[in-house]
Amino acid sequence: MKRRGRFAPTPSGQLHIGNALSALASWLQIRQAGGEFVLRIEDIDKPRSRPEFARQQQDDLVWLGIDWDEGPEQGGPYAPYVQSERENLYEAALERLDEAGRLYPCYCSRSELASIASAPHGLSSEGPVYPGFCRHLTAEEREEKGARKTPAIRFIMPSEPIAFEDGAAGWMRYDGDALGDFVVKRADGMFSYQLAVTVDDAAMGITDVLRGADLLDSTPRQLALYEALGSQAPAFAHIPLVADESGQRLSKRDKSLTLASLKQAGVPPERLVGALAHMAGWTERLETVSAAELIGAFDPPKPDRPIVLTSRLMQWLLND
Ligand code: GLU
Repeated sequence: MKRRGRFAPTPSGQLHIGNALSALASWLQIRQAGGEFVLRIEDIDKPRSRPEFARQQQDDLVWLGIDWDEGPEQGGPYAPYVQSERENLYEAALERLDEAGRLYPCYCSRSELASIASAPHGLSSEGPVYPGFCRHLTAEEREEKGARKTPAIRFIMPSEPIAFEDGAAGWMRYDGDALGDFVVKRADGMFSYQLAVTVDDAAMGITDVLRGADLLDSTPRQLALYEALGSQAPAFAHIPLVADESGQRLSKRDKSLTLASLKQAGVPPERLVGALAHMAGWTERLETVSAAELIGAFDPPKPDRPIVLTSRLMQWLLND
């Protein structure tokens, strides 16, 4: 079976150096294995997504030297898959989860949820961990609350621990209760990232998910969804986020670090790829290199080796 990977950007802004590293690493992993690569635009969060960002992300990836092997239409060059065109799949998955008794309606208001943030349940990439207020409502309580409010739909996390071996971070173990039941469909009808990404990765036969470490604690939630949907989960690898010299994660707001601004400054793609490869430890020397030339050199970055965009590297990148 061919290995299959993907890059799945949210079109809520321009791709920056950190996104470029994730895209390049997942593409290299798959090209090295002789597998197939997919681009999927994750525009499920409609208010945050803009078609012009989706177009620009696509152009930026092509500029970087990344290609993909298929799309929703026959024949290349392929347009990417787009989540907003796939909502019937997410709805069908919700029905299956509901039939399996894994969902419940949640009537909690924003302010009730905000009060949880200061409670001792902890925080996660999902926001405050939901302590299950609405999980055990009686049918009458649901009816009474439902008459006043459209609920969000939450997925019941298993209480058993979830363990997996991450291709970059090693063995991870999460306690289901510490993650909390998460939203799969919001009260306004929007499907959640966790649901859409899992349904799509399963439907597209993705075998390898390589992405940034900020999504590491989404993985046990997605694994619980795979299990509940009876789908085969991919192998996961979460690479360190690009940081600056003070150890701060690169800010999305720093416009000078977007691919668009580097292009505009006249930086050739091989120079950016050279800087990324050097940061990630794929090349000994700092030199220009194309994405295709790196295929043999790829190795997933390890979590104990920070990926740092130093000012020296930035200067070299801008060639001054
Ligand atoms: N769309 C998500 C993001 O841009 C990434 C999804 C994923 O790689 O799982 O953060």
